[in-house]
Amino acid sequence: MTPEEFKKYGYEIIDWIADYRSNISDYPVMSTIQPGTVRERLPDSPPENPDPFESVINDLDNIILPGISHWNHPNNFAYFPSNATLPSVLGDLLCSGIGGIGLNWQSMPALTEVEEVVCDWMRQMLGLSSNWEGVIQDTASTSTLVALLCAREQASNHSQIKNGLQGEKLPLIIYSSIQSHSSVKKAALLAGFGLNNIRTIETDENFAIDVEQLKIAIEQDIKKGLKPCAVIATIGTTNTTAMDPISDILSLTQKHNMWLHVDAAMAGTAMILPECRWMWDGIEGADSIIINPHKWLGVVFDCSLYYIRNREHLVRVMSTNPSYLQTSKDNEVKNYRDWGIPLGRRFRALKLWCLIKEQGVSGLQERIRKDIKNAKWLKDQIENEPQWEILAPVTLQTICVRHTPSGLKNDLLEKHTLQWVTDINNGGAAYLTPGQLNGKWMVRISIGAEATTLKHVKALWITMKSAVNKESQRNR
Ligand SMILES: *Cc1c(COP(=O)(O)O)cnc(C)c1O
Repeated sequence: MTPEEFKKYGYEIIDWIADYRSNISDYPVMSTIQPGTVRERLPDSPPENPDPFESVINDLDNIILPGISHWNHPNNFAYFPSNATLPSVLGDLLCSGIGGIGLNWQSMPALTEVEEVVCDWMRQMLGLSSNWEGVIQDTASTSTLVALLCAREQASNHSQIKNGLQGEKLPLIIYSSIQSHSSVKKAALLAGFGLNNIRTIETDENFAIDVEQLKIAIEQDIKKGLKPCAVIATIGTTNTTAMDPISDILSLTQKHNMWLHVDAAMAGTAMILPECRWMWDGIEGADSIIINPHKWLGVVFDCSLYYIRNREHLVRVMSTNPSYLQTSKDNEVKNYRDWGIPLGRRFRALKLWCLIKEQGVSGLQERIRKDIKNAKWLKDQIENEPQWEILAPVTLQTICVRHTPSGLKNDLLEKHTLQWVTDINNGGAAYLTPGQLNGKWMVRISIGAEATTLKHVKALWITMKSAVNKESQRNR
């Protein structure tokens, strides 16, 4: 494709994206196609000869679009938001268009330096002290793996350059709550700790880690001759956005010389609001933090920020420094390959940079406040309606609900819950995620798509009430 052809098709594709976003509310939020539908409409083998590029747009409309669930739809209340704001889409396009990769500072000086600057902008926006330095990773899952590798190497006094974990006398133990994200367990397994050395601690009535139970678990492990290594605390759990109490956990991690990693993948975004920062009180004492601008903040996936206080330790754990990557500037610059797992890095900083520039801090704050306010509105409605229950504190923008008609218990209630949420999702008017809390089904409403306004939340509430009525009538 020549640059001239690129312009022609590029403008068409930009138009396609712009029209898609303008008309997004016309689509059913969740795709309801059957497995295999998209695959069977695509050829089994690659085109032997060039396909005219026009066919891409055709296939987009006819084959691909029906298989898309519309994350940026204003009636998307599923999972957590993944806001691909348009300025960040442009930043992503620039990243691809420039098409360079960072291997070291020298290979793309601007890539490193823009990343340094936006990580520091975000640090300031989050209210973190200048003790923290950040780097962009692909996902929170990767960041947590990096954190646990740092923790492992701290607790084992750099075992990796000796016999690794296999040479350790005392098994190292990892702690998090039963509400922590599945990526925590995955990271601990991949980092070699072993399933038997992962403790999942019960939570209190607010679904935050029970610090007393954590204390008991740590002390028991020490008594057994094991070595507590790290606590992963969550600020904004995936189920209910519960907040683990950082200050209380710190009193344990500091006493036992453990690593404290804070998973604020979702709720970290709310820390751009000064009025929310009490939620991670004590954060300055943690060792590492992740927040995902690719969720609520509005950076198109993938962009996860990993903040660390001890940069030397991170680099020592992650650095291999073969001769062909060394340059004469190495002592004056950051080489981000030594701040994480991959060698090559995309110019991801551009999409975060574009978003912050286009919105300004105040624009971003205003949008996050809007979502919190809309969630509060819905919570108030639900609380005042008989037969509806709110199951967890609404700390930010996620509401966990159950509709409990009198007389409906156990299996019948479970069935009722799954039915009304499935009806809504299949109907296309909104998209909600069912989830389990204390072993029982509930429905999670996560407000925070960029396009969602109070009007959409009001419509959702009407949809929910009519879905449960239909269900009740059907069961009569
Ligand atoms: C979404 C989420 C993750 C995983 O995020 P990825 O970037 O998709 O790996 C981890 N922890 C929490 C609390 C989350 O909400």
